[in-house]
Amino acid sequence: MRKEDCLFCKIVAGEIPSTKVYEDERVLAFEDVSPQMPVHTLIVPKDHYDNIGDGVPDEELGYLFNTVRKVADIKGIAESGYRVIVNTNNDAQQSVHHLHVHVLGGAPMNSGDP
Ligand code: C5P
Repeated sequence: MRKEDCLFCKIVAGEIPSTKVYEDERVLAFEDVSPQMPVHTLIVPKDHYDNIGDGVPDEELGYLFNTVRKVADIKGIAESGYRVIVNTNNDAQQSVHHLHVHVLGGAPMNSGDP
């Protein structure tokens, strides 16, 4: 289900361009426009959920996180390592309120890195 005026729903619909990394019928992975690491890919479910607490079915969450492994393979960071972040609500500074997973890697990270 789509939500009006949602940026990532517009990206999913192709109304706002993105650099696609992976897509299937349920998820879209695309490059973050403001990368914090050499690899910084976002994965979103095509259906709209505000965040991980927004009644996301277990099966949808499993699918989303399985896509993390696919993206890590595609980006060539499965062996070197990567960080997975899901910012949720204000204290975590979630800025786009459509559930998304950050996949970050491509260089060694310190604890202060994203
Ligand atoms: O977790 P948070 O909501 O802060 O992350 C949103 C992410 O979406 C940011 O990393 C931002 O760079 C990215 N973004 C994007 N394309 C846009 C707007 C935001 O990749 N058009």
